[in-house]
Amino acid sequence: MEQLKQKILSEGIVLPGNVLKVDSFLNHQIDPVLVMAMGEELARRFADAVIDRVLTVEASGIAIGLAAAYALGVPLVFAKKSKSVLMTEDAYTAAVYSYTKKVTNQISVLKRFLPSGESVLIVDDFLANGEASLGLAELVHQASSSVAGVGIAVDKAFQPGHDRLLHAGYRLESLAVIESLDGGRVHFRE
Ligand code: 5GP
Repeated sequence: MEQLKQKILSEGIVLPGNVLKVDSFLNHQIDPVLVMAMGEELARRFADAVIDRVLTVEASGIAIGLAAAYALGVPLVFAKKSKSVLMTEDAYTAAVYSYTKKVTNQISVLKRFLPSGESVLIVDDFLANGEASLGLAELVHQASSSVAGVGIAVDKAFQPGHDRLLHAGYRLESLAVIESLDGGRVHFRE
C-alpha cells in the first residue's frame, strides 16, 4: 500500500534489533485518515472471504483492527494481555512471547466474544516472529472456529513470522512488506 510505505519512509525510525518505530502515526499518535484507509485496503483484499469477526491483540493492534472491522461491517475483538478482575468468565488463553517487550504474555479472550463455527480474520500492526498472530490463531482454534486469514500493516518478511504463517497454511495479506532494515534504512520487498 503506497500511502503506508511513503509514511514509513518519511516518519519511520529504524532502531537497533530490527525494530521499526512508527509511533508518530500507528503506535502512539495515530493518523486516523491513514489507519482508516489501511482498514479499507484490508477489507478490499479479503473481499472474497467470509469474515464474521476481526481478532487482534491489545494495544497496538486495536486501531488497525477497528478500521478493518468497520470496513468489513463486523465486530472487533481484542485479546487482553493481562488478566483483570473483570474477567470472571471462562476465557480462551494462549502464551505469546512479545518481540518488543521481551516478556511472555498470557493473551486471553472471553469465550462469549469468540463463538464457535465462525470465520475470523486476524489483524495486527506488525509481523516479526509470528508469535502474536499464531497465538491469536490458537485462540480461534480453541473456539472451534476457523482463521479466514491474517492481515498485517507492517510485515518484516526477513524475520521468521512471514514464512511461519505461510507454512502453517494461513492466507497472509500485508500492506507493507519489508525486505530488510539493513544500514538503518527501510528496504521494501517489491
Ligand atoms: P511477533 O509476534 O510477530 O513476533 O511480533 C509482532 C508484535 O510485536 C506486534 O504486535 C508488534 O506490537 C510488535 N512488534 C514486532 N516488531 C516490531 C517493530 O519492528 N516495531 C514495532 N513498533 N512493533 C513491533
